[in-house]
Amino acid sequence: MTLADQLRARIDSSGPLRLDAWMAACNRAFYAGADPLGRDFTTAPEISQMFGEMIGGWIGDLWLRAGAPAFDLVELGPGRGTLLADALRVLRRLPGFAAAVRVQLVETSDVLRDAQAARLAGWPVQWHADLAELPGDRPLILIANEFFDALPIRQRKDGQERHVGIAGDAFVPMWRVSPGPDAEWSEASTAIMAGLAARLERQGGAALIIDYGHDGGSHGDTLQALKGGARACPFADPGAHDLTAHVDFGALAAAAQGLACHGPVGQGAFLAELGIAARAAALKSGKLPAQAATITAALHRLTAPQQMGAIFRVAAVTAPGWPAPAGFGMAAA
Ligand code: SAH
Repeated sequence: MTLADQLRARIDSSGPLRLDAWMAACNRAFYAGADPLGRDFTTAPEISQMFGEMIGGWIGDLWLRAGAPAFDLVELGPGRGTLLADALRVLRRLPGFAAAVRVQLVETSDVLRDAQAARLAGWPVQWHADLAELPGDRPLILIANEFFDALPIRQRKDGQERHVGIAGDAFVPMWRVSPGPDAEWSEASTAIMAGLAARLERQGGAALIIDYGHDGGSHGDTLQALKGGARACPFADPGAHDLTAHVDFGALAAAAQGLACHGPVGQGAFLAELGIAARAAALKSGKLPAQAATITAALHRLTAPQQMGAIFRVAAVTAPGWPAPAGFGMAAA
């Protein structure tokens, strides 16, 4: 039975599916299929090694200032494992780091787990389907890059909530009465953030969240589907493309009870403060002009405001007693 058949059967028996149920089912199938990264979309760590290296610097700085404790380095939705591979190449040079770290990956896709295992060979890696499975005996430093945007959302407009039904052969959006203000929100995201905040408060540590999104307030319908790098209809071909929505950083901060929040700031400003320009210059030295041009182009793509520098936002939360993290301007002073 294809996913479309399963969804049709569900709708036939219990009526239109609420948007979050539709999105969860579609994305589970999408990420369980062939490796989507590079085919349907690309992400910052896949653009350049500089991205993961900067995050490695961020982790190392925080870990050292926290007193270099034994800890769990966690990534939510690690994709191909590229970010952590680049970060760990930087971090392994720190005395005592390799002995202090365990790597914990939260990933639901078996295809991507295999890619992560290959990329992170040699490190002590464990996989989990859910944040709730993480060990509870050490502080955590957690990274989530383009993770929250894939989590299910709900939408309400004019006293009706968006569902997905069937008209003829096609899946179509349908609206059902639901009193309340116009909104787009992600209960899945705020639940994860609340669970994470409770853990960080207990275990110590910090989380770094990078995604495209906004700082709160109303932004209308931000649901989109991408296939082969182009926009597609979110209600056609379930499971064939990535469904995403803009991340509401204001809602995530509100869910991070008991923690200090830093940012959000633009990805361009964050990476600039961590020294990405100097890293690009070092990588370019001695390279052929064409290779140097590729590095310059990657730097531009990651940091320019009209590229990923402004729409991608970076926020961090830290547990009580943990130092303020680098990259957030005055907050880090
Ligand atoms: N962080 C990576 C990949 C981003 S794509 C990068 O920057 O390249 C989103 C990732 O989240 C994929 O690894 C996907 O399989 C994973 N994912 C999506 N929904 C998930 C869920 N509910 N639980 C765990 N992992 C999930």
